[in-house]
Amino acid sequence: MGTLREAAMPIFKPDVETMERKELQELQIERLQIVVNQAYANVDFYRRKFDEAGLSPDDVKSLEDLGKIPFTTRKDLMDNYPYGMFAVPLRDVVRLQFPLGMHGNPIVIGYTREDLKIWRELVARILVGIGITEHDIVQVAFNYGLFMGAIRFSQSAELIGAAVVPSSIAPADIQIRIMQDFRSTVLASAPSFALHIMETVQKKGLDPKSLSLKTGLFGAEPWPETVRQALEENLRIQAYDIYGVMELIEPGVSGECPARKGLHIFEDHFLPEIIDPPTGKVLSEGQEGELVLTTLTTSAYPLLRYRTSDVTALHSEPCACGRTLRRMDRVLRRTDQMISVRGINVFPEKITEVLSGIPNAGPGYALKARTNYGMNDQLTVQVETATAILEGRKEQKAAFQEALQLSFRRALGLRVDVELKERSAISGQP
Ligand SMILES: [Zn+2]
Repeated sequence: MGTLREAAMPIFKPDVETMERKELQELQIERLQIVVNQAYANVDFYRRKFDEAGLSPDDVKSLEDLGKIPFTTRKDLMDNYPYGMFAVPLRDVVRLQFPLGMHGNPIVIGYTREDLKIWRELVARILVGIGITEHDIVQVAFNYGLFMGAIRFSQSAELIGAAVVPSSIAPADIQIRIMQDFRSTVLASAPSFALHIMETVQKKGLDPKSLSLKTGLFGAEPWPETVRQALEENLRIQAYDIYGVMELIEPGVSGECPARKGLHIFEDHFLPEIIDPPTGKVLSEGQEGELVLTTLTTSAYPLLRYRTSDVTALHSEPCACGRTLRRMDRVLRRTDQMISVRGINVFPEKITEVLSGIPNAGPGYALKARTNYGMNDQLTVQVETATAILEGRKEQKAAFQEALQLSFRRALGLRVDVELKERSAISGQP
């Protein structure tokens, strides 16, 4: 992949994606002032936060003033469930999205028609940027029921005229059959699922060259460079990373360009900062810390300085693709205990919550993840269990184990294995 090809890739919105930084900053401050005023006027939570900090929306005059605004955390979103964070009346909301697996109160995100239109275009920027056109056939192998990005990929690919095959979570051999029969050129999926498809191709002894795949678009879980190499070599594709935040939009915050030296953040819609997690101090460019995002154009669910828990760094050196939007490093770490298993987020707190509702189970537990290419692909929950169950009848024990499995599946949206352990076998909390 040389510079020529990079330069030849089209840009969906060149007026903003290659905007002079000064001009972009002017657009950002203009939008920031609007979103701050709307949040203050329409969201009690923000009005309270501003008042407590002795801050008025008029005090936000420059991008430097952003630092005066208090952070928003996931706990704030949970505490204001369901509609406390909404800045528009429900009649203006056309989509409600409900990420599974959250602990405590769930959260619900609302989108207006305009929010969805913007989101569709942001993902289209990523698709166009890596050379996807109306000639492509995009196989979307994301879970349409649980992962809000699945619909987004479909609608954004349709927006640019590509054909979409929503193969969702069909088993790997059906995914491969679809690839063969429909000549899919693009695979969009969780990278762990792509690995599973790749291994099935190998098991079947299929020559990857006999497939028409050329591009892979992967996200929703951290994936190391080794996974990229394996997928590229064995599926004969170029693999790109995409990034989103489930409490905001996922994907659509940033994406790789053909240069693949970080993910360009759509800074005309999101204002990124990197902070030191314990102190909240804003770090300078290139320093690694927690990504904080402020939405600049979201109507229904504006977030001011939202702490994403994702660890990355920002870079603004010129990129070979010509975009002036800053880049973030690929996210491989979190500041919290959340782990990703096959693209599904698991908060340990959620495990505790499930166990607290089941007599004779817990409170102690341990999580064991089986990995493939360094990525979690199967989770086992070892659960402290009352002696009465462990030493009881075999059928009773099996039924108990099954009930636990079902509870986890319902709460997490993920099938896990459950092992019953004696109370002394698991020391303390994991
Ligand atoms: Zn670039």
